[in-house]
Amino acid sequence: MTDLETPVLDNHLHLDPDDGRGLDAVKEFSRLGGTHLLIVNKPSWHLGVEADGGEDFRPVFERTLEIVADASSILAGTAWPVLGVHPGLISRLVDVRGFSPSDAQAVMQGGIDLAADYVDAGEALALKSGRPHYDVGPAVWEASNAVMRHAFERAADLDCAVQLHTEASESMTEVTDWAVDVGLPAHRVVKHYASGRLEGPIPSVMSEKDRLETAVERGEPFLMETDFIDDADRPGAVLGPKTVPRRVRWLLEEGHIAAVRNAHVETPYRVYGIKTEATVS
Ligand SMILES: [Zn+2]
Repeated sequence: MTDLETPVLDNHLHLDPDDGRGLDAVKEFSRLGGTHLLIVNKPSWHLGVEADGGEDFRPVFERTLEIVADASSILAGTAWPVLGVHPGLISRLVDVRGFSPSDAQAVMQGGIDLAADYVDAGEALALKSGRPHYDVGPAVWEASNAVMRHAFERAADLDCAVQLHTEASESMTEVTDWAVDVGLPAHRVVKHYASGRLEGPIPSVMSEKDRLETAVERGEPFLMETDFIDDADRPGAVLGPKTVPRRVRWLLEEGHIAAVRNAHVETPYRVYGIKTEATVS
């Protein structure tokens, strides 16, 4: 097993032991020197759950907690769950299932509330929310923003972070202003699938070399991720589970010691309060 002599955190991926590679992906990540994972629940409808209310998300979250426990037992470090509602659910509820945008909003906020219960109980690390990355009508956009602001309120109460799935953007200060308005500091808001530069939330940078070079040059807090979706039907859709440890090795070879410390020790602590160095066995 490779030891890169630093914690190595993939800040956002999904695992599907039932239909994908599951724990084999964790073993590969670990073998290449990866130590820590933030595992995000798969979109509820991908698991066959057609939610009509918050409680319907429970089996999705429970399955994620089981996967996290199994992953933790493999890693030299730790895996933590990030629970929430994929923003694309609103289109499924409105366009496929005939919900009004406001009824869809209620279902999704119920899911956020249930995820918040898990954070409150110490069983999950952070919440996941956001808004569609594709064009939607004004009512759906407003309802999506309301769901996201609800997630900020819950996170502010719990003093936890929120990972966002949103449109591609390098300036989202309006969104972090909403967070700050309800008492959630901007550094508790993370934009997943980010490029190397972003105003507002902390960027969780997709671990492609050009994006990472931008983040390193910028010198601001950042995280690294793959958004591995572990979907056997879409094998090349995203970066694979070995990518973050490989890119960390590359950054170290390029002499970017401080950037590696930024993305794998300092920023994880600042955003989530997790001590990655202390949790490597
Ligand atoms: Zn994802």
